[in-house]
Amino acid sequence: MARIRMTALDVAPLSLEKAKIATFQPGHVDLVTTVAVIEHERHGILLWDTGINGAVLDPEAGYWAPGLAEAFGTQGISRDHIVDRQLERLGIGRGDVRHVVYSHLHLDHSGGAEYFPDAVHVAQRAELNYAFCPDPWTRPVYCDKDIDRLRRVELLPLEGNADLFGDGSVRLLRTPGHAPGHQSLLLDLPHRGRILLGGDVAHQRDQYRNHIPMPWDHCLSDTTASRRRVAAIERGGVPLFLCHEQADFAQLPTQGTFWD
Ligand SMILES: [Zn+2]
Repeated sequence: MARIRMTALDVAPLSLEKAKIATFQPGHVDLVTTVAVIEHERHGILLWDTGINGAVLDPEAGYWAPGLAEAFGTQGISRDHIVDRQLERLGIGRGDVRHVVYSHLHLDHSGGAEYFPDAVHVAQRAELNYAFCPDPWTRPVYCDKDIDRLRRVELLPLEGNADLFGDGSVRLLRTPGHAPGHQSLLLDLPHRGRILLGGDVAHQRDQYRNHIPMPWDHCLSDTTASRRRVAAIERGGVPLFLCHEQADFAQLPTQGTFWD
């Protein structure tokens, strides 16, 4: 079995009205934005998602569409949270990242694409096709500046489920719905066994359990089917970690500790 190990980063703590991420749910929520750093013995560093772009933090830059930074509650994010700086602290240079794999291409997942111009960027073909030409109503969450960067890097479009390195260590599972080409990452760690990084198959546990739709879900029936599929894998004994769920992030290795 290929030797891999992984650690997690919170690259964008968010604080916002719950209704912005879970349809009609009352109250306020604090979220994390998880990026996983995976080291593979033969293929080097792979990133799972990239968080937001650092320019979002500059109010003058107008990086996102007007009002979005306030709506998503980015006020608690500092430049040091952004993925490039966090990798630096782990001793990983931008040029060390050989693969960037996206759960989907919304602006809180693809914003770091800029920092890795020499990596191979991996997403479902359905997601790439959609992100390059989104419907008018989803355009705000596909930031044109992030998506434009993907026109200038090496892309590896996937057609459904994939075993990325052919050794079973890094598998992508097609879990569409929240986005047309949403996918989840199934890692097979030599000692710990399999874990499933579910991206935004749900933003939080309660929505996942109760099948609550998320605003910006591209296809609700696909989201529900994907959640059922992920739940079946979870029932099979594979722990699931959602990108934005604080309780899930709290269990993951961070601060330079790794699972292997
Ligand atoms: Zn997200």
